[in-house]
Amino acid sequence: MILKLVSLWEKLKKSFLLKILKRKYRRTGKCKGCGRCCREIFVKHAGGVIKEEKEYSRLKRLHPFYSYLKIRYKHEDGLVFECTKLDKTTGKCTIYKNRALLCKLYPQEEIFMLGGIISEECGYNFIPLESFKEVLQKVMK
Ligand code: SF4
Ligand code: SF4
Repeated sequence: MILKLVSLWEKLKKSFLLKILKRKYRRTGKCKGCGRCCREIFVKHAGGVIKEEKEYSRLKRLHPFYSYLKIRYKHEDGLVFECTKLDKTTGKCTIYKNRALLCKLYPQEEIFMLGGIISEECGYNFIPLESFKEVLQKVMK
């Protein structure tokens, strides 16, 4: 009986994520506090990744989070930032309790939609909600 309820709950959860939230992945795992995601940051705004310092200067006025960032280098896809609020010795966020919502929600599925990836060492994983077989069945219908 308990197994049936668990299975029903899992089905409902999957259906909610797929149909209501339009998700394709389920996030598992937890943060290991390595700080990698705070050292290599691409910033996307108004439909594109920030590539020029001028664009970034404008962005700084919009939200305090952007003023925490420092340009590390230029990549062909855009500017790569690091966050000055990261303690480089401990790898921990120095404003953890007051960090931006963006940081609290990281990592989200949207990262994949934007062509991004998470570090292989990251404690999180994204697992497809539908198996390859299920997707194939839908396509073949
Ligand atoms: S504010 Fe903290 S959690 Fe957010 S990017 Fe900076 S160091 Fe990382
Ligand atoms: S890369 Fe992953 S494990 Fe490391 S701090 Fe960021 S979210 Fe946490």
